[in-house]
Amino acid sequence: MSVKETGYYDTLGVSPNATESEIKSAYRKLALKYHPDRNPNGAEKFKEIGEAYEVLSNSEKREVYDKYGKEGLQGGGGMGVDPFDLFSSFFGTGFSFGHQKRRSGPRRGEDLVHQLPVSLEDLYKGKTTKIAVNKDVICPVCNGKGSEKPDAVQKCKVCDGHGIRITIHQIGPGMIQQVQQRCDVCGGTGETIMDEYRCKKCNAKKVINERKILEVFIDKGMRWGEKITFPGEGDQAPDTVAGDVVLVLSEKHHSIFQRKGNDLFMTHNLTLVEALCGFEFVLQHLDGRQLVIKSEQNEIIKPGDVRGIEHQGMPLKESPYEFGNLYVKFEVEFPKKGQINSKNFNTLREILPNPKTPKHKLKQTDIVVELKEIQQNSKKSQRSQHTYYSQQDSDDERSTGCKQM
Ligand SMILES: [Zn+2]
Ligand SMILES: [Zn+2]
Repeated sequence: MSVKETGYYDTLGVSPNATESEIKSAYRKLALKYHPDRNPNGAEKFKEIGEAYEVLSNSEKREVYDKYGKEGLQGGGGMGVDPFDLFSSFFGTGFSFGHQKRRSGPRRGEDLVHQLPVSLEDLYKGKTTKIAVNKDVICPVCNGKGSEKPDAVQKCKVCDGHGIRITIHQIGPGMIQQVQQRCDVCGGTGETIMDEYRCKKCNAKKVINERKILEVFIDKGMRWGEKITFPGEGDQAPDTVAGDVVLVLSEKHHSIFQRKGNDLFMTHNLTLVEALCGFEFVLQHLDGRQLVIKSEQNEIIKPGDVRGIEHQGMPLKESPYEFGNLYVKFEVEFPKKGQINSKNFNTLREILPNPKTPKHKLKQTDIVVELKEIQQNSKKSQRSQHTYYSQQDSDDERSTGCKQM
């Protein structure tokens, strides 16, 4: 698999092909090792590990990262989530190394990252489009409490509101193992609500799913991999600052143009006559205009030659009335065998420059060989037949010999 950059994979010490569980276990190992409560010099590393894990553990973000690198992600990198919160949600909220749990402000929800395929035409002309996102919003009936009756929500007595239970096993003399489990009484929420008071609208989930239409403005000259962010439009949850909806513009293949920066590239096929004598062709541009493209007078185009047209590339995002260039690479279709008759060969020899192949005086020892089309790198070519003519008996009468190599 080819990815744009491997930084986050390197941070976790896994390969870009790593499975979800490999990424998880790499994070588990490293986060425990570098948690600042345990490793006083680990703060920076701990943050990096968290950032890498946040991105790679989210399949959508990982896909964006693989394709466009850190640059493609919102804010140029992952960390929408506090590394300590990430750690807590991974290991359970009650987990600590015997210290107070760290908290820096309210929890921030995850960003919702979506790919938005856009055509080159859209990026050329600009476009306004609408997309629908499904997101969680705080239940309007219970206001995110899970019940309309305020005292129906109670701290779970089994886990004391932590959502997890810790059990201690003796695993050897003087050795104990501490095991954390999600509290099955409250389902990890830390709260219990009496059945009859559960909010009917959200079924005590505190949030409901809602479809929201977002209007997306694609500016002229934007690029694939660029992000359009809708702040705070991510999933809502109680006691959480909603994350953003992030749209990443993804590439839709174009049949004629390739884009490099602000320039456009295309390939055009010419016949040999056009290549030698000049040509004209009509190109439909990305906004529907027809460009009549003509060769320069007396121009001769060789296969692979590139010619440019100024200001016919992509508009510049910063100043949409300026444009990059359009570059045309030419391929030349030569006539096929049999398309030129022998009389015309003579005409061509007369009119084209340097017409003469100097005639070589054959000596007794010379071998005259003729070029053939032979398949390369196949079994056949290793044992192919070579026909050669040699001058053996007389000057005029050439005998042909056939030799198996
Ligand atoms: Zn509700
Ligand atoms: Zn509980």
